[in-house]
Amino acid sequence: MKQYDKHMHTTEHILNQTMVQMFGCNRSFSNHLERKKSKCDYHFDRALSTEEEEQITAKVNEMLQMNLPVTAEEMPREEAAKEFDLEKLPDAAGEVIRIVRVGEYDACPCIGDHVENTSEVESFRMVSSDFNEGVLRIRFKIKRA
Ligand SMILES: [Zn+2]
Repeated sequence: MKQYDKHMHTTEHILNQTMVQMFGCNRSFSNHLERKKSKCDYHFDRALSTEEEEQITAKVNEMLQMNLPVTAEEMPREEAAKEFDLEKLPDAAGEVIRIVRVGEYDACPCIGDHVENTSEVESFRMVSSDFNEGVLRIRFKIKRA
């Protein structure tokens, strides 16, 4: 299993939920998470305006600053499939699926490592976003607490 930076990865959960809520798009279909700088790609139909970039940034930071607990629970695959898209999980995930929650803001199946509380990430900054052939790419950095 690929080891992600857990601070970046937890921030990705929050960014994904923010994108879903603000634009009705899907969670990122591809990402590249590194300690210093990360990027997430979304299927999208246009570029973001500066105002939208600022709104996304403000929302992600608002959630980080709420000191939300990050928790995991396990449920049978059949039950999880009713509520979540399991297509992106590796087959190795097996018959018991781990659902990771960021407070009540986000819930998604995930086998990765996360921080225990969003307070461990001090802030989120969108470095840039661009749109190309149906793909919106968001690049971001974080500051660790
Ligand atoms: Zn995760």
